[in-house]
Amino acid sequence: MLIVMQYDASDAQINHVMERVRAHGFRPEPVPGAQRTAICVLGNQGPVDASLFSSLPGVKDCIPVTKAYKLVSRETHPGDTVVTVNGVAIGGDRPLAIVAGPCAVESRDQLRRVAEALARRGVRLLRGGAYKPRTSPYVFQGLGEEALEMLAEVRREFRLGVVTEAIDAETFDRVEDVADVVQIGARNMQNFSLLRRAGASRKAILLKRGLAATIDELLMAAEYILAGGNHRVILCERGVRTFAAHTRNTLDLSAVPVVRKMSHLPMVVDPSHAAGTWEFVIPLSLAAKGVGAHGLLVEVHPEPEKALSDGAQSLTLERFDELLDRL
Ligand code: PEP
Ligand code: MN
Repeated sequence: MLIVMQYDASDAQINHVMERVRAHGFRPEPVPGAQRTAICVLGNQGPVDASLFSSLPGVKDCIPVTKAYKLVSRETHPGDTVVTVNGVAIGGDRPLAIVAGPCAVESRDQLRRVAEALARRGVRLLRGGAYKPRTSPYVFQGLGEEALEMLAEVRREFRLGVVTEAIDAETFDRVEDVADVVQIGARNMQNFSLLRRAGASRKAILLKRGLAATIDELLMAAEYILAGGNHRVILCERGVRTFAAHTRNTLDLSAVPVVRKMSHLPMVVDPSHAAGTWEFVIPLSLAAKGVGAHGLLVEVHPEPEKALSDGAQSLTLERFDELLDRL
């Protein structure tokens, strides 16, 4: 249930409603809006009786929420959420946000070359993995702490916002200190303890759609983070597994308008992990912009042929320039 307060409801009235919600054994979650505050009632097993709250002072309306996800849904929060990171506003009607960088941080030189290229083009968000969730245990797993130090250096020097992945609760603690946005990867989309950890963080979270996850499952995963108190969540479509083998994953472009209809959260697209091959990254990026994505997460490497992970799908610095020009 969503309790919508009158636009001139006082703090005391809002607090009183929250107290009554608690007194009935539920958890109130205030959702501040541009016009008025709403209070989302959480923790109920079945429908909540509207008459418990509808006559309290300052209450305008009690609306039953029909979806299993509440905080992420447009029913609860009709206006678009805009997540601002390092001065870049992601969401709503803001210009397409660009996040670019290597799959993994491999060396100081590699990272600096990418950071310079981004800074030169006015791109303010750098991606780069320190901890890599690799399919095989025998391949490069990321430089860990060393990579985080390098990310912290280029972050300072080039004034870039850093997006980097946490693969478990332990790495979350380390990543959180350096990252402006903590990424939760496709393989971890339903790692519920990690989602709870993200909910307790004050950093923005980039939540990638699982390899075979439905939109409902993606939104429910995001709900964990919002229910934990962290509302700065950015969703990411990165392709799903289908019978089609002509690309690494099948980029589900329809997910963008569908999620934008169902949720107020920003939705970005990662064309790199969908394509698997650099050749298709530019056309898929243009398509993502066309269907209303709020941003792109693109893998860029100064020497893709030498990359320790995902070289085949990484754009060279020159091709990244071309992408920006064409966008
Ligand atoms: C990545 O961003 O490098 C990554 C591992 O992505 P995904 O979780 O989408 O496979
Ligand atoms: Mn990658």
